[in-house]
Amino acid sequence: MTVRTRFAPSPTGFLHVGGARTALFSWLFAKQQGGQFVLRVEDTDRERSTDESVQAILDGMTWLGLAADEGPIFQTERFDQYHEITEKLLSEDKAYRCFCTHEELDASREEQMANKQKPRYNGRCRSREDTPNVDSPHVVRFRNPEDGTVVWDDAVYGRIEIANSELDDLIIRRTDGTPTYNFCVVVDDLDMQITHVVRGDDHINNTPRQINIMHALGAELPTFAHLPMILGDDGKRLSKRHGAVSVMAYKEAGYLPQALLNYLVRLGWSHGDQEEFTQEQMIELFSLNAVNRSGSVFNTEKLDWLNGQYIKSLPAEELTAAFVDALDRAGVSTENGPSVASVAELMRDRALTFVAMVEQSLFFYQPLTAYDEKAAKKNFKPAALIPLRAVKQQLSKVSDWSAESVHSAIEATVAELEVGFGKVALPLRIASTGGTASPALDATLAVMGQATTLKRLDAAVAFIEATAEQ
Ligand code: GLU
Repeated sequence: MTVRTRFAPSPTGFLHVGGARTALFSWLFAKQQGGQFVLRVEDTDRERSTDESVQAILDGMTWLGLAADEGPIFQTERFDQYHEITEKLLSEDKAYRCFCTHEELDASREEQMANKQKPRYNGRCRSREDTPNVDSPHVVRFRNPEDGTVVWDDAVYGRIEIANSELDDLIIRRTDGTPTYNFCVVVDDLDMQITHVVRGDDHINNTPRQINIMHALGAELPTFAHLPMILGDDGKRLSKRHGAVSVMAYKEAGYLPQALLNYLVRLGWSHGDQEEFTQEQMIELFSLNAVNRSGSVFNTEKLDWLNGQYIKSLPAEELTAAFVDALDRAGVSTENGPSVASVAELMRDRALTFVAMVEQSLFFYQPLTAYDEKAAKKNFKPAALIPLRAVKQQLSKVSDWSAESVHSAIEATVAELEVGFGKVALPLRIASTGGTASPALDATLAVMGQATTLKRLDAAVAFIEATAEQ
């Protein structure tokens, strides 16, 4: 039996991290088993489904590299099939037409509530003698078994058992002829020969209903695997309140898809205490049985750390490409600065995202219009003029500009003035980068270039002189 899994998003918004995690687990399991992964778009809710959302979901999947072996298959293109199966169930008396009006249903519900019973369909049309004409408005209900229990061995939750007395006769076709959600899912999962239904645990309540319909259709049950929720740091279900939840917002914020995937795979699944997984390792090691049942908390700091690890080890060309992309999106022109490849190489060890890398690299590409206020106040006193002028002298003599020669020039200044390294390096760092946070000074200046460095030293000297006069 070929393993076939699916991801079945409803296109009512963007692809969020919870959906992406479900898609990933489903995809991983299929890949590991040498199976197929199907993408199905559950767009029967015409009011809430949009083309933009379909596109957003497809974009998110593409960015993450979760390619479908089949699909996207759209439910709205399968109405004939749902209709046919409904007719089949009707002809086998496994479903029936229900002519109860809203008023009648409301009255019955009120009566049940007054009697302290759980409100549910009272079954009037199950075996009604006075059936109205089939042209009268009606819905079609599934004839749910009245006795016994529905049982399944969930790959994550273990054995789950629900009494049929808890379940209603589900509407499978509405008065306007459209099929309902739970019914479409069943028809699709059977037609698409899905062997493993991997989905969020918010669907656990639907599963017994779907299983009963599957039994009525004489089908073999797939394996069900319900994934625990993703929680925000307050323990509540992850939502917009907690910050970015859209997968593409992570792209925009400068995360790498492989880092996000690596982060997502650890949300609810573990392999010892290993944190970093290549895609090959994920595929090799993933197992549905190792998914834990408790909700997992989305931790941005951990994602940032992982992303930083990925940036550190990214091949040079990909690093440059991602940096260029982030610079473009931030509207930063790099024309008058050092090569983006050299800046990216310099910054890769400290930036956790590409957006941060752009922010930390701005001083290379934009004129220094101000110094970090605190740093300048403390370090740009008249006493700093001596080391700044001296180091400028030394740096202007360098003929082979590199990290080593810059370093030697600083050392030479330190020796000449008989002061500590910091007395020269600190004002030099502020003068050239605008602040105190930057990578190693010699490497930074090597990338910045001699001309800009000297120009910035002159500007710092002028700045200190001007402030001293005030
Ligand atoms: N369309 C459903 C959702 O987006 C998923 C249904 C399923 O996986 O069975 O939540």
